[in-house]
Amino acid sequence: MAEIGKIVKVSGPLIIAENMGDSKMYDVVRVSEKKLIGEIIELRGDQASIQVYEETSGLGPGENVYSTGMPLSVELGPGLIESIFDGIQRPLTKLREVSGDRIARGVYVPPLDHEKKWDFEPIVKKGDEVVPGDVIGTVEENIIITHKIMVPIGVSGKVLSISKGAFNIDETIVVIDTENGKKEVTMLQKWPVRKGRPYAEKLSPTKPLITGQRVIDTLFPIAKGGVAAVPGPFGSGKTVVQHQLAKWADADIIVYVGCGERGNEMTDVLNEFPHLVDPHTGQPLMKRVVLIANTSDMPVAAREASIYTGITIAEYFRDMGYSVAIMADSTSRWAEALREMSGRLEEMPGEEGYPAYLSSRLAEFYERAGLVKVLGKEGKNGSITAIGAVSPPGGDLSEPVSQATLRIVKVFWGLSASLAYKRHFPAVDWLTSYSLYADKLGEWYTDNVSEEWISLRSNATRILQEEASLNEIVRLVGMDALSPADRLTMETAKSIREDYLHQNAFHEVDTFTSMEKQALMLKLILTFNSLGKDALEKNVDIEDIIEMDIKDKIGRAKYIPETEIQSFEDIMKELKKQMHSLSSEGGI
Ligand code: ADP
Ligand code: MG
Repeated sequence: MAEIGKIVKVSGPLIIAENMGDSKMYDVVRVSEKKLIGEIIELRGDQASIQVYEETSGLGPGENVYSTGMPLSVELGPGLIESIFDGIQRPLTKLREVSGDRIARGVYVPPLDHEKKWDFEPIVKKGDEVVPGDVIGTVEENIIITHKIMVPIGVSGKVLSISKGAFNIDETIVVIDTENGKKEVTMLQKWPVRKGRPYAEKLSPTKPLITGQRVIDTLFPIAKGGVAAVPGPFGSGKTVVQHQLAKWADADIIVYVGCGERGNEMTDVLNEFPHLVDPHTGQPLMKRVVLIANTSDMPVAAREASIYTGITIAEYFRDMGYSVAIMADSTSRWAEALREMSGRLEEMPGEEGYPAYLSSRLAEFYERAGLVKVLGKEGKNGSITAIGAVSPPGGDLSEPVSQATLRIVKVFWGLSASLAYKRHFPAVDWLTSYSLYADKLGEWYTDNVSEEWISLRSNATRILQEEASLNEIVRLVGMDALSPADRLTMETAKSIREDYLHQNAFHEVDTFTSMEKQALMLKLILTFNSLGKDALEKNVDIEDIIEMDIKDKIGRAKYIPETEIQSFEDIMKELKKQMHSLSSEGGI
């Protein structure tokens, strides 16, 4: 590390240094004899503005700045899964072992374990031609994740030799004869976080990410490779939604970025995830998770970097052909970090003090999501689904971060304070939320869930909308003014809300609902509605329909375990029987 510059000014996490003319934008530097990690975020002549990822107290003018000549990069290779990193990929568990609970400054521990030996199983053989992205071998990272070792970007040629057996990530496993000579390849790749990893082609998403959350999967689905925002005021359930997705979504890999929120929320994740069992594999959920924690008590600059660190790791697994989901909680806290740095740089402030480049930075992040054909001869697909929580002050969506996000994302799960207040969770407002993927995914649901899916979903949506307009009438003239048919609509809507959309994240069974069960539940409620209509035509009293015994069973259907969903048939039969007997008693 060469000594290059001298500090001239310290302003919180920002320092200004001079004599920096030889360095490049986004180079990583080490600051002072403490060797604090920083990154150049502005260069003017020989003056550099450096955001420092650690506490800067005690630093002062005249101290040295050392160059590394490298951009801020992450280590990619076996050992990523189940890791807990900070915003610049420092391994938090290891750092604690080295320096105790209060992480000492300037301590460097590599993100991945460089000693550990992994069993490398080659796929290509001597003489094969390989190109970037080709899988040259695999490592069983754990019982569910096969880590694919890929030819690094920029390397292609003929395989001269390939090894098999136990190696650490610094040992050569393959030698490739390239145009520029022999290239020794290890299991470790480094990638600059601010640059998206390349792929062959972006594709239009066609499959849903199944989350087990009924309001999402049924009404506002997200595609694998889609982008969504969860805006909502404090306490409306953003973090619970993100946790539920991390736990239950059918993605191969989860990257969870806790960004500027309270530390205890990350502790919840750390305590809870290792005990949870993945319904798809029967294995602990942590075995497919990478956690990035930059909570509110950690340095603000590293928070700015954390979402790039997260999405770069996500891209790396996407490149292996996996479906990856990344959650960022919360992008508002990230934007505040951006604002703070911009203010210290004395940039011209835009709306509410955010820099003018807020929306382009947000767009750059979300654009790295998507379904793509990855590099490599095999031509596999991989996807990144990105879900950002947005916490607008007071829940007012007219503020800049919400507005910029809404222009980018295709799914909007708007959390409502009044639903949360009534303890209707998840508090996703069914009247304002939307998914621009819903129509495109209709075919998948029809083929894989139920032939009736599209009509079930549109009937549910229509009934909820009718309820909203009937509510207006009820407010003005009271429930008695409604026709029996309208009363039935109100009753069905109530059932959709309470028995279906309401879902308790903390109930053992209710926390996750398979698509098969979602279709059965919805069908039950909508059959109540259609049979109810028939009964009304036969002059059955609406009160008798509302008071039917079977409604209790419909209400408790959500608690039927996945292993017992054949019992839906019995409830359906009983519903038909009870409705039939009402019609034959009341009918003329
Ligand atoms: P936010 O992140 O928006 O501030 P949280 O996600 O922390 O809000 O949710 C606040 C509280 O709301 C939770 O602690 C929990 O009690 C309740 N809650 C939110 N979503 C659910 C849910 N799906 N099921 C049950 N309770 C929920
Ligand atoms: Mg939260």
